[in-house]
Amino acid sequence: MIYELPPTPKGKRYEMRAIGLREFAGLERDDQPLDPFELARYANLLVAEFEQVAPLLSEATVKHLIGDGKDMWSGGAASHQLPDGRKLIILNPTHNRNRQNATLMEEISHVFLGHKPSRLAVETRSKDGKIIARDYNAEIEEEAYSTGAAALVPYSALKRMIGRGMTIREIARHFAVSPALVEFRTKVSLLWDTYRDSIFAGR
Ligand SMILES: [Zn+2]
Repeated sequence: MIYELPPTPKGKRYEMRAIGLREFAGLERDDQPLDPFELARYANLLVAEFEQVAPLLSEATVKHLIGDGKDMWSGGAASHQLPDGRKLIILNPTHNRNRQNATLMEEISHVFLGHKPSRLAVETRSKDGKIIARDYNAEIEEEAYSTGAAALVPYSALKRMIGRGMTIREIARHFAVSPALVEFRTKVSLLWDTYRDSIFAGR
C-alpha cells in the first residue's frame, strides 16, 4: 500500500509515524478502520476497565471522576510500569467508544513516540480534541494527538472519501471515530475547501 502524504511538513511528519503504527497493527489498506484496543495489546498497554481500578481509589475520587468531573478528563496513563512490564491505561467510562478510540490512540502514540510522563498523565480534552488542562507540554500533546488521529483516519483514504462525496459523518462512522476528529483531520490536512466544494456540488 502506497500512502499519500498531506501537504504540510508537520502533517507529513505525523502521517509517516501514523503509517508506521498502522503497519504495526497489521493493516494493509489505508481505508481499514484501526482498532486501538487491539493495537494497545501489541504495544504492551493494559487498558483497564474503570470498574477494575475504582476500588483502588477513594469513594470521593470515583464519584468525582464519573460525576461532576466526568467532562474534565478523557483518559490517563500510569507513569510506572506494572510488574509484568505493561503500562496501565484508564479511559473515561462515561465517554462513548468513538471518543475512547481517540483517547486511547493518543496514549499509544505517546508510548510509540517515546514520550515519558513525569507523573500520572491525565488526558483532558474536549470533544473536538482541544486540551482543557493547564499542566501539559503543548508540543508533545499536539504530536501525540495528531499522530493518533492520523493513524485512525489516514490522509489518502480521507482525501479519496471526500472526493467521492462522502460526508464527515459518514467518514466518521466508517472509521469509528467522532465527526469532530474527522473535521480536525480534514482541516489540518488542508482538505476543507475540497470537502465544502464536493458537498455543495452534490446538492
Ligand atoms: Zn496526551
